[in-house]
Amino acid sequence: MMAKNHYRAWVENFATALHTGEAIGGEAIGMAGMAVPEHPPEAAGAPKALVFAPHPDDEVITGGLPLRLLRERRFAVVDVAVTLGSRVERRTGRWRELEAACAYVGFGLVTPDRTGLEGINLEARGRDPARWALAVEAVADALAAERPDVVFLPHAADWNVTHVGVHHLVVEAMRRLPALACRVVETEYWSAMTTPNLMVESTPADVADLVAALSLHVGEVARNPYHLRLPAWMMDNVRRGAELVGGQGGAAPRFAFATLYRLRGWKEGQFHDILKEGESVAAADSLEKLFPPKGEDKLWR
Ligand SMILES: [Zn+2]
Repeated sequence: MMAKNHYRAWVENFATALHTGEAIGGEAIGMAGMAVPEHPPEAAGAPKALVFAPHPDDEVITGGLPLRLLRERRFAVVDVAVTLGSRVERRTGRWRELEAACAYVGFGLVTPDRTGLEGINLEARGRDPARWALAVEAVADALAAERPDVVFLPHAADWNVTHVGVHHLVVEAMRRLPALACRVVETEYWSAMTTPNLMVESTPADVADLVAALSLHVGEVARNPYHLRLPAWMMDNVRRGAELVGGQGGAAPRFAFATLYRLRGWKEGQFHDILKEGESVAAADSLEKLFPPKGEDKLWR
């Protein structure tokens, strides 16, 4: 007789959840089957967050905090689509999917180049510095036009060559704008950050909206239904965040889902540390202390 394992059914429920997620496709995938959530109207003079996404889908994957800024702090969140992926024949399709995904979560969408920038990686920067300089200029133009209060970008060691490239691209562009003063939030996906300082909880409702938006990248999730693994990734983020953000050996917050970030300030062409210690922001906590209203921001005074 097999020894009874009290966790067996519980673990099977995870596996079942993953596979039943695949069945949600079909009719429900695509704008025809899924109603777009209502978004609050954009307030005049709302603070703005720019999310520099290396590929279409990164805006959603790391979108936990941007979505909360939009919903709770009434930020205008704008995805800057840096590339549209490496496959030329998929770029038109990926742009349309990206439009649907951004509309679903209420993000605006701009691009420094309608066909997506090319060669956004350090190898290409070395090989073709003239093309790289044009890309930096395009991003600096976007920053100057959008005047963001918060910039999201991948951390410098996020493994994927385009993620790493986008980090350097955006930092070089920010250095071109000596008057730029904002918060900078680094994101992680392909490789975990060693020093995140911010863990942001997402509610199941927010995670469901992120998964739904990710599912609208139809061509990508058809190849690999990675939208169904987003909740598990966000659960594991809580494990890491408990130690890396909360401090080794600290009590773990009872979040189900979270995303890890590194929040710093940017002024006079460089990063500035603005958090004395790691911060964990529960779903019920206000983000106002970290992202105060315009005019009440004491960061640069
Ligand atoms: Zn990516």
